[in-house]
Amino acid sequence: MTEELAEEQVSAPALTFEKFGFDKAIMKSIKNEGYETPTPIQDMAILPVMGGFDLMGIAQTGSGKTAAFCLPTINKLIYNHVKPNPYKPKALIIAPTRELVMQIGKFIDQFSRGTPIKSLVVAGGQPYQPQIRKLKYGIDILISTPGRLIDHMGSGNVKLEECDTFILDEADRMLDMGFIDEVKEIQSNLNTGH
Ligand code: AMP
Repeated sequence: MTEELAEEQVSAPALTFEKFGFDKAIMKSIKNEGYETPTPIQDMAILPVMGGFDLMGIAQTGSGKTAAFCLPTINKLIYNHVKPNPYKPKALIIAPTRELVMQIGKFIDQFSRGTPIKSLVVAGGQPYQPQIRKLKYGIDILISTPGRLIDHMGSGNVKLEECDTFILDEADRMLDMGFIDEVKEIQSNLNTGH
């Protein structure tokens, strides 16, 4: 591919965020953040994720991939929202490091402002009790590192039977770090069809 072509592809998406039909609270946050045009990974991933399709996305850090999976997930949960049951998140995001889950959690907080969506970050190295209290209250989106998630599942504080969105961020790094058994165990607890 010539350099000229590559550049044309990167700058090709002309969609605006209006096109996705996001909830107005999300649109307000998008405006507040100063996002004008979706990045290529957002352009390609948002509609399929909103439609409930399985998707594997590959994009560099800094390409807007967090928004590409978080925005359609928040949007899906806003529609027909019912308060989540204790210990039963509706969407699960796993990522390999504490820093990464905190970063995703912060992003979700920002973009679910003004919506009924509740999210929680659980990572190792933090006390269990506050996490368990929030899990009991009921949360929509759980963001976790694999190890701590499995601890909570083992003690019955996370139950995945009502979870129908499963996102693995930096899946390649998760495998490099040896999390394959944990990922398989988590996956086996999800609804059938995943
Ligand atoms: P990420 O690749 O998810 O780590 O995102 C990198 C940075 O780009 C973050 O600061 C995002 O807030 C920002 N960002 C994501 N999507 C857009 C967009 N469509 N327009 C402008 N900035 C964006």
